[in-house]
Amino acid sequence: MFSKILIANRGEIAARVIRTARRMGVKTVAVHSDADARALHVAMADEAVHIGASPVGESYLVAEKIIAAAKATGAEAIHPGYGFLSENPDFVDQVTAAGLVFIGPSAASIRAMGLKDAAKRLMEKAGVPVVPGYHGEAQEYVLLASKAREIGYPVLIKARAGGGGKGMRRVDHPDDFQDALAGARREAKAAFGDDRVLVEKYVDKPRHIEVQVFGDNFGTVVHLFERDCSAQRRHQKVIEEAPAPGMTPEMRKAMTDAAVKAAAAIAYSGAGTIEFIVDGSDGLRPDRFWFMEMNTRLQVEHPVTEMITGIDLVEWQLRVASGEPLPATQEQIRLSGHAFEARIYAEDPAKGFLPATGTLHHLAFPGDAPAGASMRIETGVRPGDAISPFYDPMIAKLVVHAASRPAALAALGAALEQTEIAGSTANVGFLAALAADADFAAGDVDTGLIGRHQETLVTAPAAGAAVVETALLAASGLDRAEASDDPWSAFAGYAHFNPIARRLKLLHGETEIAGSVSMIDGRPRVSLPLAGTVDDRGGSGRGGAAALRTVRWPGHVTVFDGAWNHDFTVPDPLASAADAAAGGSLRAPMPGLVKLVRAAVGDTVGKGQPLLVLEAMKMEHTITAPHDGQIAGIVAEGSQVADGTVLVSFEEAPALAVAG
Ligand code: ADP
Repeated sequence: MFSKILIANRGEIAARVIRTARRMGVKTVAVHSDADARALHVAMADEAVHIGASPVGESYLVAEKIIAAAKATGAEAIHPGYGFLSENPDFVDQVTAAGLVFIGPSAASIRAMGLKDAAKRLMEKAGVPVVPGYHGEAQEYVLLASKAREIGYPVLIKARAGGGGKGMRRVDHPDDFQDALAGARREAKAAFGDDRVLVEKYVDKPRHIEVQVFGDNFGTVVHLFERDCSAQRRHQKVIEEAPAPGMTPEMRKAMTDAAVKAAAAIAYSGAGTIEFIVDGSDGLRPDRFWFMEMNTRLQVEHPVTEMITGIDLVEWQLRVASGEPLPATQEQIRLSGHAFEARIYAEDPAKGFLPATGTLHHLAFPGDAPAGASMRIETGVRPGDAISPFYDPMIAKLVVHAASRPAALAALGAALEQTEIAGSTANVGFLAALAADADFAAGDVDTGLIGRHQETLVTAPAAGAAVVETALLAASGLDRAEASDDPWSAFAGYAHFNPIARRLKLLHGETEIAGSVSMIDGRPRVSLPLAGTVDDRGGSGRGGAAALRTVRWPGHVTVFDGAWNHDFTVPDPLASAADAAAGGSLRAPMPGLVKLVRAAVGDTVGKGQPLLVLEAMKMEHTITAPHDGQIAGIVAEGSQVADGTVLVSFEEAPALAVAG
């Protein structure tokens, strides 16, 4: 076994590889860009090497820097993770030439599968079923159009160098072929620098089912069953599962046999995935699945396979790459239960899944696995980390396993409901809606399901009165009084005599919400002009099953209602008080206690200088000078002040700065 490896990746996959390496007693070296200097994977590794600026082209994609980092730290092998350099055969050649081991297949295996057209020709020869279509060298429009007619519409045009669904066009009618071809070519040229395409039959009610394979350096190849990744949005996987719903013994045998044959045909070593497209229009039938492509690396969704087999695929990768035979025979690999993985992304489903950035001011995952299930959270970020525009906006993968599909799906839903993210928009509600979708729950999935149900899946429930009231209460700070032993502590000194009412304004999207919160008989009472009054936080507007939870973060309150969240902007009352003070005086933005006074009448103060500390709503607020000036009057330390009380007044004309 290696004594030290370098992980040429970042985020959750780097963290995941480090975890297994550490368990095996293998030392780890992380590499990182500027943006990732304080990232989780850097903190987890035994050593870390800075390899360049934040853009991937200046760091994670620079083979020379990564190899130099491995040499400098004495790492013997490089784990590429997924993405970045993981399927770049030239990188493998460079790693090998440097006397290091690439933890993955040979450059020759990657090349054989690198282009979809060549891979399909190879698979056809090996006796693996491929989608009926044209994958030849000739690329003239007339030829491709006639091939499309032969294949029969609808057809799918694909970039031969494709990946991530780029350069792909479905064409339903011959009249649209020319435009679609031009579009696919443009996209392929831009993304891969290669505009050659193949044309294949568009499979009806397509399901994406892939088989995990594993080979070693002694010619053995095994499979670790299948995963279903049909829940896709524009060809991107959203929720993956293993095994495939509705899988039959005959279909599984046919698919896994074909997958092992495909990997053996290229003498495959390491972890790989054979992706098949399946016609699911009539159940799963052994004559209706076809090879699509092979991914010659660890997949994002590999944890679902680990959950159903109990095998650590990264451990197997390290063992095989270090020259050991496969740790188990085909017969020893058993399937148990059902697993789901949901990909939590910083993106806004309601706005066309626009990628989001921001700081994860609040990030909380379920503390325990839902009853009867086991759970894994694969993440590369911690609370307070930023989602930068430089990298994939994945926040985490939530992976659950239970004895049956319904139990695992229920666990997934429950875990999503306990996931809290604030500071960046995330797709948690969308994932929960998909997990709760009737067709998905029935296992009736095809790659079009999300598209057909999109409208429903992306629509957050409206923020009802309970949510708005909860937001107002959280913004007021009075909810915290409930948490303390003494509900009066927040109002020490005056609340007994002056029941306070605090007016608040919040913004929910474009909508301004005004309300007030008061303490009556020791309980906060929220009044909304339209929705009447409730006397405490109340429960969820949706049956009260899940209590509403709130977090406050700079300038905002987020209310979590199950897996959905509602963000409210809290206009800063101190900022507006300061604005208002441009004239003669500075007023208390809320009732409170003057805890500290730092200036005296006659003092000349500069803009931004702290003048006093006001304690209100259990928090201390430093009141600073809104502009340069000379103090004409200032409130006494220890005074109780009401909303709007003048705290500081200034001399009419700003004093001249006095030198010395
Ligand atoms: P990429 O490498 O760009 O991800 P794939 O060949 O893996 O492209 O295909 C991506 C997705 O497109 C598949 O998961 C499937 O949903 C859909 N797809 C691919 N080929 C077909 C086909 N022949 N018919 C219908 N859908 C297809």
